[in-house]
Amino acid sequence: MKSRKLLMIPGPIEFEPEVLSALGQPTTSHVAPNFIQSFGNAMRMMRKVWLAPTGQPFIMAGTGTLAMDMAAVNLIEKGDKVLVISTGYFGLRYAELLLRYGAEVTFLQSEVGDVVPLEMIEDELKKGDYKLLTFTHVDTSTAVMVDPKPIGKLALKYNVLSILDGVCSVAGEEIRQEEWGIDVVLTASQKAIGVPPGLALLVASKKAMNVWKNRKTPVANYYSDWSNWLPIMQAYESGNPSYFGTPAVNLVMALEKSLEIILDEGMDVRFARHQLMAKAFREAMKAMGLKNIPINDEVSAATLSAPYYPDGITGGQMLAQVNIEGVILAGGLLPEIKGDYFRIGHMGSINRADTLATISAIEVSLKKGGHIFEEGVGVKAAQRVLS
Ligand SMILES: *Cc1c(COP(=O)(O)O)cnc(C)c1O
Repeated sequence: MKSRKLLMIPGPIEFEPEVLSALGQPTTSHVAPNFIQSFGNAMRMMRKVWLAPTGQPFIMAGTGTLAMDMAAVNLIEKGDKVLVISTGYFGLRYAELLLRYGAEVTFLQSEVGDVVPLEMIEDELKKGDYKLLTFTHVDTSTAVMVDPKPIGKLALKYNVLSILDGVCSVAGEEIRQEEWGIDVVLTASQKAIGVPPGLALLVASKKAMNVWKNRKTPVANYYSDWSNWLPIMQAYESGNPSYFGTPAVNLVMALEKSLEIILDEGMDVRFARHQLMAKAFREAMKAMGLKNIPINDEVSAATLSAPYYPDGITGGQMLAQVNIEGVILAGGLLPEIKGDYFRIGHMGSINRADTLATISAIEVSLKKGGHIFEEGVGVKAAQRVLS
């Protein structure tokens, strides 16, 4: 494994060996008793990871974008008013997706690196007749983290359904779906859930399921329609075979394993570990003279960091050097500033050794690129946080 590189991007991430061996089991029938059991277990564990004891989980073959699509298309009908609260790239995606299904979208965009102020959200909700709001927990293009709790409260106060895009946060950032009153929390397998790409995952509240049941018009997307999938989820959970579309058998077995690992660690311990690693990265970047996109620690994600390149450093060259040093990082994603910054994913199985190795690779690459700073300050700053 001498040529193995450490994959430190915001998904896919480094996966636990047990998850990869679960994935490599012989593929069984999608109606085999052991598979039905795995599927049911995974759903029951999702409720614990999402902290949504009475929620309805869905496990689909697809990516995070499918989970966004499924949540939106089942909850809105043509002409419904939706408030999209955006902190970057994925907020815009949600708006485009909703427009496609005929929603009337109002778009609130934050300044780069900041969140949309709560007063602004409340002012908009006061204007009335919104059916739904969407927001992104961690926008993967900026590493900005939005606190879901007060937004969940506002949605309850104004009787608006809420969808949280948690693709870059579920099982990394603190989420208490039911306590916080959020109607749908969605994600994808390849991020903090720790399973190779290919699963779209979401948990819907009772209220969301009722709104869907009382629709006046059919769901505008055949594949995503909960009428097709709810009976399948219910069958799997009660231990019965069922079929609508073939599930991603091996990925579901890997999901079962990963959720076990997540729950063995414990949600609070896991949230705290992500916080700690993120702080180590932020302090290391600051010590080396790099500025992070999020304007302060309060709005900084625990699952990834997004520092600007320092003056004189060209992105492509630096990322290529980091790769030579054995670590894979991601470039920028937000179109306005795409070439000005890079992204480090630190979620899932991330540990101290990964953190220090990554910072060290960045440090060496910055030095080789001509950035002037005291050698070793990055690793030292991280060690101070970690010890
Ligand atoms: C990655 C990501 C998505 C899209 O997920 P895909 O699996 O790439 O479709 C959506 N929202 C956020 C916040 C993400 O990080």
